[in-house]
Amino acid sequence: SYDALIVGAGHAGAHTALALRQQGFDGSIALLGDEPELPYERPPLSKEFLSGEKPFDRLLIRPASFWVERNVQVLSGHRVVVVDPAAHTVRTAGGETFGYGRLVWACGGRPRPLNCPGAEAKGVHGLRTRADADEIQRAMTGVQHVVIVGGGYIGLEVAAALVAKGKSVSVLEARERVLARVAGEALSRFYEAEHRARGVVVKLGAMVDAIETCDGRATGVRLADGSVLPAEMVVVGIGIDPAVEPLIAAGAAGSNGVTVDAFSRSSLLDVLAVGDCALHPNSFADGAHVRLESVQNAVDMATTAARTIVGDPRPYHAVPWFWSNQFDLKLQTVGLSTDYDQTVVRGDMSTRSFSVVYLRRGRVIALDCVNAARDFVQGRALVANGAKIEPALLADASLPLKQAPA
Ligand code: FAD
Repeated sequence: SYDALIVGAGHAGAHTALALRQQGFDGSIALLGDEPELPYERPPLSKEFLSGEKPFDRLLIRPASFWVERNVQVLSGHRVVVVDPAAHTVRTAGGETFGYGRLVWACGGRPRPLNCPGAEAKGVHGLRTRADADEIQRAMTGVQHVVIVGGGYIGLEVAAALVAKGKSVSVLEARERVLARVAGEALSRFYEAEHRARGVVVKLGAMVDAIETCDGRATGVRLADGSVLPAEMVVVGIGIDPAVEPLIAAGAAGSNGVTVDAFSRSSLLDVLAVGDCALHPNSFADGAHVRLESVQNAVDMATTAARTIVGDPRPYHAVPWFWSNQFDLKLQTVGLSTDYDQTVVRGDMSTRSFSVVYLRRGRVIALDCVNAARDFVQGRALVANGAKIEPALLADASLPLKQAPA
């Protein structure tokens, strides 16, 4: 039995162990995960790792020796299938039982599969793990036509990496613009144009009817309008399903994620949840319960959970931020832009260095900064304070945001 049993050895799980030791927790800690690797960073899987610029050992969150020194047991290859909150135990697919004083659920999510004929064919890939990225890289050599389903950040990053490798790449997006779930129209149109300029075929309003196959291998993607795009490789990036079934089955509140309070506590005694799988109240979403899929949220929720466990609880109140690298474009976002009622473009988009500022009822709620690191750094305070600034002043890129009179 472990004083703190962390299930899921990804970003949030690893940082929970780190934060516990940082907070002086001296009980036993186990980090139980179903992947074979030590905890690693996922963002490069669609960026520098996929493009071959960064080898896997540079993705590790900490080297093996670190976990040994901090007395954190990293137990790989264990998938938890049952949680027994009354007995304070979990059971793995391999039939082993582990006891806990506190359980921290940090299981992230699985790529949502396509729901159409051929979705299971060889050559159809999701991208969440190192194994997925290795598979894509291995298969890539013999492939010319790649179809990416989903014009979100992961889909667009994969498109950028593969078109740079000389592949013919198409991106299919069901909505009328890329990045529709996470960004305003100006940013969507900018990225759409950038991808087209590099030769990526971007199809909007595109509904996938089936993956066409031959001998169980993908050969193309058929759309609802009857057209078929040739594809020996299909990469599906249409979001994740949070990995929470064992907890929900054990009676934890939640559905699309485990519901937690501001201290990362689930409705089950001594069970906390962190990271992508945790449906938490977020002050930057007007207190609404949201699931955020970002490194920022994984790390900051880990700290919140650790503080709760050591008896120094502080409500979660961290400014959301995120990044995405495509081609030579470095996008950095701060805040949550959902529910904006006004946007201001700051700077000249044609220079490929600009920011989009999102406002709600006159207050700055978010910024998307493209090759504009200074705006990202200075805009953070505006989001944190919900600053009220005249749109005309925000639009004036010669005026640094930190000097904008609030
Ligand atoms: P994960 O890191 O997914 O860890 C969960 C772990 O739990 C996994 O190892 C999983 O296999 C394991 N697990 C699941 N179920 C069980 C079980 N029953 N028993 C045991 N173990 C289990 N974020 C950014 O901020 N910026 C980016 O640019 C960015 N790019 C990304 C690119 C890609 C390709 C991907 C996939 C993600 C990206 N993200 C990015 C998101 C970021 O990686 C996640 O938000 C972060 O990894 C969440 O951490 P987590 O611990 O909640 O989940």
